[in-house]
Amino acid sequence: MTEPRQRSIGVTPREKERLEKAKSVYENKTGEKPDWGKFLSVVSALGLVALGIYKMSQASKKNPVTNCPYCGENFSIAYSDDLPPVVYVTCPNCRAELVVDLRAP
Ligand SMILES: [Zn+2]
Repeated sequence: MTEPRQRSIGVTPREKERLEKAKSVYENKTGEKPDWGKFLSVVSALGLVALGIYKMSQASKKNPVTNCPYCGENFSIAYSDDLPPVVYVTCPNCRAELVVDLRAP
């Protein structure tokens, strides 16, 4: 198996401090310890929902079936523990992109 190539992005020490603070707030609130990739994907997904760019639907890890907010069809999500608690999916029925929050009980 080959290691994925390491990529880096430039952040100023101040931005890094702010991101680390945001990550620790997230960890305290959710009780999760996501790696940076997971954390940033969750934050960007929720940010896009907050901006109204994506719609969000709910599902639980136990029963990962959700209802598409565009076409009303139910579909299930292949969930594994490696996935972040909030995922981007494409509706298999209408091909709409949406964000699914898997933190529902
Ligand atoms: Zn749909």
